[in-house]
Amino acid sequence: MAKILDQPRYKCALAAMQTVHAITGAIPVLHSGPGCAAKLNDNNGTSGRFSPNIFPCSSVSEKEVVFGGTGKLRSTIENALKVIDADLFVVLSGCTSEIIGDDIEEVAGNFENAEKPVLWAKTPGFKGNNYLGHDWILKSIFEQYLEREEVVTAYSDADGEVKKEKGLVNLFVAPPQQDPYWLGNLREIENLLTAIGLKPNTIFGFGRGIENLKKIPQAEYTILVSPWVGLESAKYLERRFGIKLLQYPVLPIGATETTKFLRTVQEFTGADKELTEKVITEKEAEFYYYIERFADTLLETRILGKRFTVASDSEYAIAVTKFLVNDMGLFPEKIFITDDAPKAHQQKIIDEVNNLNYGITTQVQFTTDGHDIHEQIKNADFAGTPLILGSNWEKKLAAELGAHFVNVSYPMLEKLVINDHIAGYSGGLHLLEQIFTAAMSKLKL
Ligand code: SF4
Repeated sequence: MAKILDQPRYKCALAAMQTVHAITGAIPVLHSGPGCAAKLNDNNGTSGRFSPNIFPCSSVSEKEVVFGGTGKLRSTIENALKVIDADLFVVLSGCTSEIIGDDIEEVAGNFENAEKPVLWAKTPGFKGNNYLGHDWILKSIFEQYLEREEVVTAYSDADGEVKKEKGLVNLFVAPPQQDPYWLGNLREIENLLTAIGLKPNTIFGFGRGIENLKKIPQAEYTILVSPWVGLESAKYLERRFGIKLLQYPVLPIGATETTKFLRTVQEFTGADKELTEKVITEKEAEFYYYIERFADTLLETRILGKRFTVASDSEYAIAVTKFLVNDMGLFPEKIFITDDAPKAHQQKIIDEVNNLNYGITTQVQFTTDGHDIHEQIKNADFAGTPLILGSNWEKKLAAELGAHFVNVSYPMLEKLVINDHIAGYSGGLHLLEQIFTAAMSKLKL
């Protein structure tokens, strides 16, 4: 039976142009229809040095569909190289150019000797969503950029061996923009790794970018904080450069999971154990200082029910459930996972959601049918006011049910996240602030 996609919570693979855009100095070149970038650009925080409104695009039309669009792509790249002051160009194909069989690899290959690197990645919307597209793009960039002569020279010694840097750790978390907290969470996890003596290497956001991309092969380890997104590109780095991979499937939110995360990283990387335990002791003490100070509000006012549900991608479904059960003592009603996670990963995700303290378990459903999610939430028994964590789609439902509602995932229309984070010890407190603000805003004067 055909799968129903009602109330979309992700976009097509080409929307992972946001992954290129997040690498400072890089710009996507779209070989797609003229409306794709405009349709796919509905996140906040996409203006700046380059914005999707100026992404070069071959604007494939009927003529190219009939006669082929490689000529138009070639001239688009030529002109982009002349007028756009970018350091890296990544050609991305959309549905139309893939359906007509244009060879973007060959066209990009014509620019092998251009002053700036021109790479390519296939991202037709009909092949998958932007969670997958993110991984495809990263893998293509690693495969092509890290093999360029000048880049190989930069990371190799006189014998042609990769110069490894002690303590350097590549870090990847969530797909830029698709996760509204992508940048704040990335920075917070960077800070935690730095605190235990590691040197995190990230390529996204302010002050990072292409110089860090070049350093990727020099890392001793890659840490991927994700249940499944980004796994193929991280595994590629392991195969090609022997960079050991730690896939940590839980975005750590709050004290319990963040402590577990730091201990796992310490053990995997051999980071200073004493320092790690010192950092954990200090961070936990600070976390619980705030919990204690607000214990009267959190525990005694009883403005929050005991049961919650999450309708979000695998990352937040796991992370939020663990935080609310293990740190806050709440009970999960059914959890809905909306990112179309591949079947091969689904059992592991279910097991991870249910790897909770006190033997607590819950039902987990993978679905893209927003109507069905809402009907099930309406019919669930929350034994009090429901707490719903989801996306903007759940806002109206929450109003209808009189539920407390916090938006943690795309689409996020009613909230602006600039560099806020909900990962780590302090991120757990930020999420608590949002949950209790949602509940307290219902109190009558
Ligand atoms: S699904 Fe295809 S046509 Fe639609 S925006 Fe994505 S790439 Fe463009």
